[in-house]
Amino acid sequence: MSQSGSPSGARLLLKRLRNIMAQPGTPQTRLDQIVRIIAGDMVAEVCSTYVMRAGQVLELFATEGLKQEAVHQTRLRVGEGLIGDIASHARPLALADAQHHPQFAYRPETGEEVYQSLMGVPILRSGRVLGVLAVQNRTRRHYTEEEVETLETVAMVLAELIISGNVVSQAELAPEEGIAVVAMRLDGTTLAPGIAKGVAVLHQPDITITQLVAEDPLKEIERLDDAMGAMKLALDEMLATTDVAAGGEHREVLETYRMFAEDRGWASRIVEAIESGLTAEAAVQKVQNDTRARMREITDPYLRERLADLDDLANRLQRHLLGQADIQQPRELPDETILVARNMGPAELLDYDRKKLKGVVLEEGTATAHVAIVARALDVPVLGRCHDLMAKVLPGDPLIVDGDNAQLYVRPAEDIQQTYAEAMRQRSERQQAFAAIRHLPAVTLDGTEVTLMINAGLLIDVPQIEAQGAAGIGLYRTEITFMVAQSFPDVARQRDVYKRAMDASNGKPVIFRTLDIGSDKVLSYWQRDSEENPAMGWRAIRISLDRPALLRQQLRALILAAEGRPLSVMFPMVAEAWEFEEARALLKLELDRAAQAGQQVPSAVKVGAMIEVPSLYFQLDTLLDRLDFVSVGSNDLKQFLYAADRGNPRLADRYDTLAPAMMKLLGMIAAAANAQGKSLSLCGEMAGDPIAVMALLCLGFRQLSMAPTSIGPVRAMIRSLDLGRLLSYWAELQARPVSDLRSRLLVFARDHGVAL
Ligand code: PEP
Ligand code: MG
Repeated sequence: MSQSGSPSGARLLLKRLRNIMAQPGTPQTRLDQIVRIIAGDMVAEVCSTYVMRAGQVLELFATEGLKQEAVHQTRLRVGEGLIGDIASHARPLALADAQHHPQFAYRPETGEEVYQSLMGVPILRSGRVLGVLAVQNRTRRHYTEEEVETLETVAMVLAELIISGNVVSQAELAPEEGIAVVAMRLDGTTLAPGIAKGVAVLHQPDITITQLVAEDPLKEIERLDDAMGAMKLALDEMLATTDVAAGGEHREVLETYRMFAEDRGWASRIVEAIESGLTAEAAVQKVQNDTRARMREITDPYLRERLADLDDLANRLQRHLLGQADIQQPRELPDETILVARNMGPAELLDYDRKKLKGVVLEEGTATAHVAIVARALDVPVLGRCHDLMAKVLPGDPLIVDGDNAQLYVRPAEDIQQTYAEAMRQRSERQQAFAAIRHLPAVTLDGTEVTLMINAGLLIDVPQIEAQGAAGIGLYRTEITFMVAQSFPDVARQRDVYKRAMDASNGKPVIFRTLDIGSDKVLSYWQRDSEENPAMGWRAIRISLDRPALLRQQLRALILAAEGRPLSVMFPMVAEAWEFEEARALLKLELDRAAQAGQQVPSAVKVGAMIEVPSLYFQLDTLLDRLDFVSVGSNDLKQFLYAADRGNPRLADRYDTLAPAMMKLLGMIAAAANAQGKSLSLCGEMAGDPIAVMALLCLGFRQLSMAPTSIGPVRAMIRSLDLGRLLSYWAELQARPVSDLRSRLLVFARDHGVAL
């Protein structure tokens, strides 16, 4: 057992290391001393430090126990061997039988073949791996969790030495030297649309911790308590005063974030780290390192967001501990700032000067990222999932964020800059043109009127009805409210959200789609068995019918929210007519219940189904007389028609939405609904694509629901289209169906002055 498997042992070890750091000496002699001390303290025959060189190779810099001639000779690629594995995953490994691990790579020059056990931890700084610290033992040894923790704490001391001690040149510490000076383009995912140009500002809460080791843990715990208190007060103040937090789910996001400050688990982990000998700020950093390592492992987008919030909070707490809480970071922002971050919490964005903040790029982040929700409220484009972003962008780099095409240009060449300057100019001209026609009807040159509605999921989307001049909300994705909450919203909470959505729509219709959870829409608070094919699994109406209480609560909330106004309810993922029937019966139960209880019931109730499972087409004859409207969910309909996962980027361009099979199916659905005089709409992504809308008009669709930003372009297209002419051309095309419909329509548009 090592001496450092206990908090007091760890404290002693840290003290000894601090003495070394305080004494004169070269970085190399310090490293040599440190590995010797750790080996002795942890009763290990070997202790070695590997340092990352040029962002890709781990070089043995110091060792006690391995052959000295291997120092500065042995190099491992990131991912190579156990050391490379620790670096690539940024996580510790503790192996009693390291030699039989599939990743074990034996280097003869080190003489390590005799050592059976290995425990190694990454040397981390601001989430970046600077190296690896490892101990080895000749015998089979089971390292304890406490020993791993101690080694992690020691690794923090080494991180400081590497960063500040000229162990490797500062230029080498700059990520991926060489790549960083050339222009490049990175692909990402659009989290908020728009185009922005500016200068990279790394959102690295630039906090330098000078004091790692503390003498008196009690004093540090007191400092922590004070800082926690001050931070909570400051957060409350921010929540009370910031205009973005005024209402809607983004307020909920911020409030949930605030609740983390009360998380006992988080606080007690920090206290534990203090007890092992760290200062309060170093303890916060240690817990933050653990959080970041966990974030790398977790794929669940919702949980990752929660951890990102926690990361945000840790930065904030450190600033309070170091008395830097009032400093806006960074102090001097360029006039056009593009924030670059691994991930960031929603509140952090609000620390930046909104006049200067033009765009955000994240290495991580998902569509439901809380920072993206707040950014949308600020109308700032956000790009997420930019692979290797932090390694490739340096502070001060000129950047172009293209949130419309999900691309980031780093140090763009002159021609790209000019192209984008032109694109931004055109974009702003187009926005002005769309704004100018937003109160004009979406009617074709020859008089066909089309109803344009928006898709919404958050209360902040609702004012877009007015901003875009839309006819209402054709799809309100109620699951988003569930996804940003911490636990199942009860009837009162749901009613409040739905009522506010109806109030804000000023009498225009809102079609509420009942809960469409499952598949990629995860609720962190609902543990479910994993499914092999979740998109085709237990989701949406299948869950609602198997757990009727859930659906009934939602329907009850909708009825209450209507307060006597008309109510439209739509059921998702209906595959067979009886599913719709059962769901409608539950609605009737709730309506009767409300009436019997003497409550106000909606003045009119319309009930519809989404057509997004191809099987439903074959039951339209039975279904259509039983409902008031249908809305085609073309995203899922296409996914199931082509058996092609809609979330798989490899398949994104494989099947065109305008390919013959999809066109045929959509045409048959439209013909059946129109023949029965049923209200028909389409609310998938294609409704926002002006060329696809040309085809949809030919197929008989007259109502479309789309992302708010698509209303302008679709309206402009419709108002410049002679539908009669297009229908003649369409008839010609139908005589000999084509596989390149999109390009044919494009040519037609060009020849006939249709605005695309
Ligand atoms: C669809 O499937 O087309 C649809 C509108 O629903 P969602 O995208 O929410 O699955
Ligand atoms: Mg769908």
